[in-house]
Amino acid sequence: MAKEYDLVILGGGTGGYVAAIRASQLGLKTAVVEKGKLGGTCLHAGCIPSKALLRSAEVYAQTKNGETFGVVANDVRLDFAKVQARKAAIIEQLHKGVQHLMKKGKIDVYAGTGRILGPSIFSPMPGTISVEMNDGSENEMLVPKNVIIATGSRPRTLPGLDIDGKLVMTSDEALQMETLPSSIIIVGGGVIGIEWASMLNDFGVDVTVLEYADRILPTEDHDVSKEVEKLLKRRGITIVTEAKVLSETLEKGNGVTIKAEYKGEQKTFTAEKMLVSVGRQANIEGIGIENTDIVVEKGFIQTNEFYQTKESHIYAIGDVIGGLQLAHVASHEGIVAVEHIAGQNPSPIDYTMISKCVYSRPEVASVGLTEEEAKAKGYEVKVGKFPFKAIGKALVFGEAEGFVKIIADQKTNDLLGVHMVGPHVTDMISEAGLARVLDATPWEVAHTIHPHPTLSEAMAEAALAVDGKAIHF
Ligand code: FAD
Repeated sequence: MAKEYDLVILGGGTGGYVAAIRASQLGLKTAVVEKGKLGGTCLHAGCIPSKALLRSAEVYAQTKNGETFGVVANDVRLDFAKVQARKAAIIEQLHKGVQHLMKKGKIDVYAGTGRILGPSIFSPMPGTISVEMNDGSENEMLVPKNVIIATGSRPRTLPGLDIDGKLVMTSDEALQMETLPSSIIIVGGGVIGIEWASMLNDFGVDVTVLEYADRILPTEDHDVSKEVEKLLKRRGITIVTEAKVLSETLEKGNGVTIKAEYKGEQKTFTAEKMLVSVGRQANIEGIGIENTDIVVEKGFIQTNEFYQTKESHIYAIGDVIGGLQLAHVASHEGIVAVEHIAGQNPSPIDYTMISKCVYSRPEVASVGLTEEEAKAKGYEVKVGKFPFKAIGKALVFGEAEGFVKIIADQKTNDLLGVHMVGPHVTDMISEAGLARVLDATPWEVAHTIHPHPTLSEAMAEAALAVDGKAIHF
């Protein structure tokens, strides 16, 4: 029998389940269709498991180097099975939390694969959802007034780099490794590649990163990319930029061998395993897009600023629409879509206000325009930069690398962008985000008195440095 809803959400990842909670708060009768596990990529194969492994790697590396802190620990060993068990326990706890939130919000969850149908006996408009249930029971037919597509994304690879899950992996398989390799080639020096490079190096793996662009983290501010590259190389990670991986040369045996074109020459790289981190592609197949007028361009569903597709009652959010493929972006897009469905007139998201983070060691965090972008847009920029080596708390932490860089408009004093590389900057960037949302000037940031000793003093000092008035450097 068909079941009627105000809203059915296809996909219960970070975008989908958060949208469902907001919909329930607004009194919409809501269902989520999830073929895997509630929480999606972020909880099961992305943000949370990768950060759990990064934390274990950091603790291991720090314990080994404890003598710097006067802590002498002999026979420091890594129990990787326990590392994985800890990761699994964190995921399980959070998964239970999401399940509880669905119950609390009286949101119906269908465990199965959803597909959008065209006009049918149930509705003259496309949008009825047929659910093939995971347990093999009869298909459910859901008839919603509105639909949100939140089916997310999956790892991309390069032609020729076939993922076998053992020698050649994506992050999906790498997260499940039972033992660590002695060496690894990471193809792609973007966010995921660099987080893995940092983590595996801390675990003692010999890491080589091959990046096609002329710098790693190529969407970050130039100074930040260069600083991270310098610091990772100092830790012993091999980073080859401007390396065009010749995927057809991949050879597998006991390990992997591959050639890359580098400065006009072919170089050979060998390791025990390979991790391919070259971006993610949207999950648009098999969800019934062909039964609708929804437009797909370059593999991503196209929407307006309220996330309506060409079918105005069918919305799409999160990784499936491309742009910034981040968990907090997916969930905020979901909230905007739901509020629009509920007639609440939400403000469209300004993507230049969104913070981006890389959880490597050192961490990277940014919001707004890079120096290059600001100049390209015609701004006359002034830059304030302050190093963590002049911050007492960073020295206390034993992590005094990196800096905070603020880019401001010479004419209006507007804060155009903030870029950080260093200790715990992913927890510091929201101050910069708030400053941008509230249209604060560097002067206002600097005169928000920052407690001493904290890492956040670097933000205040960088704001002073914009006008050449930094105190401690
Ligand atoms: P997903 O989380 O991918 O959810 C989509 C869901 O839809 C899945 O559960 C899937 O099973 C389901 N689904 C698909 N098709 C159907 C169907 N037909 N029927 C029913 N269900 C369906 N982002 C950050 O912000 N911070 C990080 O630190 C971070 N780290 C990451 C690390 C890694 C290794 C990876 C891979 C990603 C990371 N991300 C991070 C990105 C983040 O995970 C994604 O941006 C986020 O999960 C996108 O949410 P989503 O809801 O759009 O899609």
